[in-house]
Amino acid sequence: MSERNWSTFACPNPACSVYGQVGQSNLRPHGWSSKPRGIRCLRCTACGKNFSERKGTPLFGLHMSDEKALDIAHHLVEGNGMRPTGRLCGGTLNTVLRFARKAGDHAQRFHDQMVRHVQPQQVQADEAWSYVGKKRQEL
Ligand SMILES: [Zn+2]
Repeated sequence: MSERNWSTFACPNPACSVYGQVGQSNLRPHGWSSKPRGIRCLRCTACGKNFSERKGTPLFGLHMSDEKALDIAHHLVEGNGMRPTGRLCGGTLNTVLRFARKAGDHAQRFHDQMVRHVQPQQVQADEAWSYVGKKRQEL
């Protein structure tokens, strides 16, 4: 089995001299996680810290399979509620809520990193989600 290319990964240690910088050739495979299996551990040669290849992703620290996490994300993206998503994916409401929070936080960070210096003259919200306004609970 060939080893993956780590050139798109970066050291997640804020105290490291090459923190967040990709293509620095500072990362080396350093064993595997025991649980879940098959997750690569990496070592930064600049700071000597070890970390999971999943650090900084919504999959980091999950206690479910990747397939289940993807399933939950697909159902939520299609507009299914938290409880129906749990029933359809074979998970509990809390499992869905925790993963939705993780994925949402990650999406927020990704958006904030990627979308910069935009000065929109107009904003058109997607009509597909206009029903959200109708879901507000009447008092
Ligand atoms: Zn480092």
